[in-house]
Amino acid sequence: KLFSELQDLKGNIRVYCRIRPFLPGQTEKLSTIENISENGQLVIANPSKPGKDSQRSFKFNKVFGPDATQGEVFADIQPFVKSVVDGYNVCIFAYGQTGSGKTYTMTGPTGATEEEWGVNYLALNHLFKVSQDRKSNMVYEVAVQMVEIYNEQVRDLLSSDGSPKRVGITTISQPNGLAVPEACMHPVISTSDVLDLMDIGFKNRVVSATALNARSSRSHSIVTVHVRGKNVKTGTVLYGNLHLIDLAGSERVDRSEVTGHRLREAQHINKSLSSLGDVIFALAKKSPHVPYRNSKLTQVLQSSLGGQAKTIMLVQLNPDATSFSESMSTLKFAERVS
Ligand code: ADP
Ligand code: MG
Repeated sequence: KLFSELQDLKGNIRVYCRIRPFLPGQTEKLSTIENISENGQLVIANPSKPGKDSQRSFKFNKVFGPDATQGEVFADIQPFVKSVVDGYNVCIFAYGQTGSGKTYTMTGPTGATEEEWGVNYLALNHLFKVSQDRKSNMVYEVAVQMVEIYNEQVRDLLSSDGSPKRVGITTISQPNGLAVPEACMHPVISTSDVLDLMDIGFKNRVVSATALNARSSRSHSIVTVHVRGKNVKTGTVLYGNLHLIDLAGSERVDRSEVTGHRLREAQHINKSLSSLGDVIFALAKKSPHVPYRNSKLTQVLQSSLGGQAKTIMLVQLNPDATSFSESMSTLKFAERVS
């Protein structure tokens, strides 16, 4: 049943677009969004250059408008999350410029109420529900890792001594699909465990952010949920991994304006986002060569990108007219991978 359910999802890659609302207190509300269709079509235009020529249309598996709730977005992700307890690997990415709502979608706003919980919490909540089903013969263990990738270095955000420590990526394929075995693995049994852990992880990210000037928007954060299921009747063991990825901001920086440290950051982000695009593009085209080795991001996720694995790309847009050209480049990235 599950297999046919996943087959219905047509292929292993889904691309959704989410447009965030204008923020409270924002007075200039000039929007680039012309039309959103039920069938996943989005039409955008540059309001400062009106006319048919400035319009462009893009096609997604689904488009979520500014009024979409966290629950509505998650409803279209839930079947993928559920497949993790059956041994599938799943990656869920949020892509877009800084301020487009990536963190809102993945985590929720700061101090989120349950209604505002993002994909991270909703997914774990759902996994706990499915894995605690008393009627099944399966017994599950769930554990969480959280790392960030900054300037092509992987750091453990949940290290035992509390300070983000550099960790390596293993090149030996592990039965459980673990890519960063040195990063602390925290067993979790309830959503409140997860809330506590993510709080620690995000604080660790913020610590570096103040030191390094809004670093959180220049690093990728990856929450990995490992599920180990054992069939108590047959003794068979299966592993499934769910990766929840809040990518670095995709905005291009003006090379003539930044130097040194900031330029290096920008180059690393560029390289990793374009490597991710190349990998997903190769997978979508069923190309025999998938270029995983070009960035730390794609190396960490290698065993969960391709093969039987499922990928969801959440493409985030800021509707503001001033973001038109960034929105266009975001949409072109999405077009290439879908
Ligand atoms: P990013 O992580 O891409 O930089 P954020 O998630 O921090 O962007 O979002 C930028 C701002 O917009 C935040 O104040 C956030 O709370 C708000 N925001 C984003 N998406 C939504 C949404 N769907 N509904 C309400 N507010 C949102
Ligand atoms: Mg963010």
